[in-house]
Amino acid sequence: MARYVFITGGVVSSLGKGLASAALGALLQARGYSVRLRKLDPYLNVDPGTMSPFEHGEVFVTDDGAETDLDLGHYERFTGVHARKTDSISSGRIYSNVLEKERRGDYLGKTIQVIPHVTNEIKEFLRIGDNEVDFMLCEIGGTVGDIEGLPFFEAIRQFIHERPRGQSILMHLTLLPYLAASGELKTKPTQHSVKELQSIGLAPDVLVCRSEHPIPEKERAKIALFCNVREEAVIPAYDLKTIYEAPLAYHKEGLDQAVLDAFGIAPAPKPNMDRWEDVMDRLTNAEGEVRVAIVGKYTQLEDAYKSIAEALTHGGMANRVRVKSEWIDAEIFEREDPAPYLERFHAILVPGGFGERGTEGKIKAAQFAREKNIPYLGICLGMQMAVIEAARNKAGVTKAGSEEFDHEKGAKRFEPVVYHLKEWVQGNQMVQRKADDDKGGTMRLGAYTAHLKEGSKVAHVYGDTVIEERHRHRYEVDIKYREKLEKCGLIFSGMSPDGRLPEIVEWKDHPWFIGVQFHPELKSKPFAPHPLFADFVRAAKEVERLV
Ligand code: GLN
Repeated sequence: MARYVFITGGVVSSLGKGLASAALGALLQARGYSVRLRKLDPYLNVDPGTMSPFEHGEVFVTDDGAETDLDLGHYERFTGVHARKTDSISSGRIYSNVLEKERRGDYLGKTIQVIPHVTNEIKEFLRIGDNEVDFMLCEIGGTVGDIEGLPFFEAIRQFIHERPRGQSILMHLTLLPYLAASGELKTKPTQHSVKELQSIGLAPDVLVCRSEHPIPEKERAKIALFCNVREEAVIPAYDLKTIYEAPLAYHKEGLDQAVLDAFGIAPAPKPNMDRWEDVMDRLTNAEGEVRVAIVGKYTQLEDAYKSIAEALTHGGMANRVRVKSEWIDAEIFEREDPAPYLERFHAILVPGGFGERGTEGKIKAAQFAREKNIPYLGICLGMQMAVIEAARNKAGVTKAGSEEFDHEKGAKRFEPVVYHLKEWVQGNQMVQRKADDDKGGTMRLGAYTAHLKEGSKVAHVYGDTVIEERHRHRYEVDIKYREKLEKCGLIFSGMSPDGRLPEIVEWKDHPWFIGVQFHPELKSKPFAPHPLFADFVRAAKEVERLV
C-alpha cells in the first residue's frame, strides 16, 4: 500500500505547487523510495487537449497518449517517472464518467449525488496503482475555497479517513505577503487558508510558506502555533534563480525530513543528492552562451512551450553552455526579410503548432536556416514546414502545402505534401478516424516507434536505430514525395516501423538540419538531456566558434 501525500494550495494561485510536488518526488527518490505523481484539476474541461495554450500553457502528452496538464511535465523532469493517462484527472472527466455510468444504468435508478457518487469516482481514481510505489503524490489544482475544488477535498477527507492511520498526509502551500510599510511578513492569510481547510475536515501536516523575504524564527513559531503544525514542519520556500534548485533548496529547509517525520518513518534513510548537485553545477558553472531563435506563434506566453524551453536548457547543461532563447513571431517574416532578425542567432528552432497563421513565416525561417547553414530543429509543424520549404524551393512542387490549411479555409489551394492521415498502425493495432473527427483526442497521440536509417545523422545523435517518441498531430508528410525530396538531398532518416509514415527528415549537406514529426522535448530531463537537444546545442556551439 502506497503512502499518500496530498498537496494543496491556499491564499493565491500560482504558488508553485507543481514545482513543490515535483521537488518532493525527487527528494523521496533521493532517499531511495519509488514515487508517482498525480494531478487532480478542478476545471470542467474533460481534458486539457482542447484548451488554448494561451490560457492554460502547454498540453503535455504521455506515452500512453493522454493530453495532460503541463505540471505533469515538471513531474517527469524532476523524477524521470513517465506519467500515464491515470495520473491526470479533471472534474470534467469525473463528472463525465459518472454521467456515463448513470446513462448505462449502473446506479440502478438511485439519485446521483456529489457525495457519494462523485467522491467515490475520485477515490477510485486515487487508488489506481496503489500497490506499485512507496509514495503517491497527488496535487490538487486551484486554491482551497474554490467551488469547483470542493468534491476533491471531500474525497480526500474520506480517503484519508478510510485508510489506516499514518498512511496519508497533507502538505499545504501558502504565501506570506510582505508589507513594506511596516517591514513585516504577514501570517494572517496563511492562518485563514488553514482554517478554510479545517472547516472541510482537513488539517495540514506540513506547511510550505512562499516568501520573498527571510521568515524570522518568531514568525515560524507563530505559524506553527496558530495553524496547529509542528514548527519543523513549517518550511520556508524562497524565490529561486532556477527551478532546478528546488530539490536542494527544499532539502536544505527540511521538507523531505518533515514529510518522513509526518509519516513517522524513523530512522529516515540518508539522502543522496549527487544528481541535483551535478544539475546545479552544470547550470551555474556554464561557460559561454548560445543564442537560439524560436520562431513560433504562441509567443505571448512562454508556458505554451514550456517543455521546449526546458529541453533547450538541458541541452545547454549537456554542453556546459548557457542557452539564451528568444521567441520571434513567425508572422514578421511574411512581411520582412528574416535575415536581420535571424543572423544574430546560432541556431533556429521551429516548434509545433496548429493552424495556418504564421506558417509562411516558419517556411521562410526553415529556408534561411537551410541556405545559411544554420543549425535547425523543426518539431512537428516545424518539420512539416521544412518539408514544404524543400518541396517548393528544391523539388519544384511550387504549390506544396498542408491539407490542414486548406481544411481551415475550406478551399483547395495547396498540393498536399502534408496530408490528413485517417488510418495508421499503433503497435500491432490499426487506428482509424473519420475526416470530421477533428476535436479532442482524435490525433496520433502518445509513444510510437521509429526506425532510423543506418549512418544518418539522427542515428548518430541517438546512438541507436530504434527509438520511441511521443506524438500529437493530425497531419503527416506524404511518403509519395520521398523520392523527389531525397533526390534533392532531404533524407527521410526516420520512418514508422511499417515504412509508411515519415518520422524524421534531415538535409544531407547541411551541418545540422533535422525535422522530427514527434515531440522530443517531452522526454528531456535535466539529469538526462534529450540527445536531439544536446546535439542541437552542441552544433550551435560550433557555430559560435566559427564567429
Ligand atoms: N498542426 C500539425 C498537425 O496536426 C502539427 C501539430 C503539432 O505541431 N503538434 O499535424
